Amino acid sequence: MKEVKAFSSKKDLLDFINSDPALVKVTREYPFRVTSHLFHYIDGPGSPIWRQFVPSSEELLEDDGLDDPLGEEHLSPATNLIHRYQDRVLWLVTSACAAFCRFCTRKRIWNRRIVTNNSVINEAVNYIAAHGKVRDVILSGGDSFLIPAKKLEEILKGLRNIKHVAIIRMGTRLPIVHPKGVTTDKLILLQKYQPIFVMLHVNHPVELSPETVRLINHMADLGIPMASQTVLLKGVNDSFEVLKELFLSLLSLRVRPYYLLQMDVVKGTYHFRVPLSKGLQIMMNLRHNLSGLAMPHYMLDLPGGGGKIELTPSFVVKIDDEKIFFKDRSGKISWYPLVDDESDKVKSVLGVNL
Ligand SMILES: *Cc1c(COP(=O)(O)O)cnc(C)c1O
Ligand code: SF4
Repeated sequence: MKEVKAFSSKKDLLDFINSDPALVKVTREYPFRVTSHLFHYIDGPGSPIWRQFVPSSEELLEDDGLDDPLGEEHLSPATNLIHRYQDRVLWLVTSACAAFCRFCTRKRIWNRRIVTNNSVINEAVNYIAAHGKVRDVILSGGDSFLIPAKKLEEILKGLRNIKHVAIIRMGTRLPIVHPKGVTTDKLILLQKYQPIFVMLHVNHPVELSPETVRLINHMADLGIPMASQTVLLKGVNDSFEVLKELFLSLLSLRVRPYYLLQMDVVKGTYHFRVPLSKGLQIMMNLRHNLSGLAMPHYMLDLPGGGGKIELTPSFVVKIDDEKIFFKDRSGKISWYPLVDDESDKVKSVLGVNL
């Protein structure tokens, strides 16, 4: 069945944007970019792909958002490195993205070019080599899959020469927005320098197009471990049904759901923010209905650079001196015994006052 589309060509969509002065103003601040692959799956105003990629005048509303909500600019000890946790380093290897997600935390660097030349690579590799506690390096951006294969190999070679670096991760949305752009030469590098975990940014089941599914299957066949990161987005995936389908589909594709991310407090993205209460309620429904293997952690990156914390719905209804009481999925109350006068300790670590 042919889908009904609002526009029959990419040009029509561009004409639509260019004919609206409010949207032209938005794109001057935050440029518009989609791939022809994505265009094929844009389904009309308000649909999941549309909302994520087509500019909206809401982006210029005054809000409580910040340019650099995670305080990343202050955590940079070497060019393009962010070192917040002792054992992990985030390395921004490119500012390029094949398509621009309107809710992006790094909107502020869309217009900035991140240069990864030999001297920048050496600086980062030397920094990591000098910090023996770093065991995990996350290549991010932008989209880390957009770095040219030759440069990627220099980075991976440099990192694999460092004994204490055990794990490398690569954050990417390319398999979703432009699957053809994931070339064999890069996949061979991922095998050669393994273990490299690919962290797929995917937000809605429609993003798992036949082309994307074929690519993910191919990557899994190559033995590339994959996990997913999903941003909780108002009007896109803020529902139990959508997320259930997404996480179960990913798991079947051999992609382990890893993080469901609460929106950062980024300027120009307020219209995507889901209230915490709703996110927690969805997590509770998911936990009651899905296998733990399909469950991501619901994460909040604290404004101001405090780092990530996990948000977990509580199933506890009461704590007394001897017992802790839980409500199960049918609403029935059950209890588990407390020992060693631990009642106050349990309350404190759970952060509840029941
Ligand atoms: C999220 C993040 C990491 C990785 O955290 P994990 O919980 O291990 O996935 C590392 N460094 C920075 C700066 C981050 O924001
Ligand atoms: S792929 Fe990631 S970095 Fe690029 S625009 Fe989307 S959210 Fe931002």
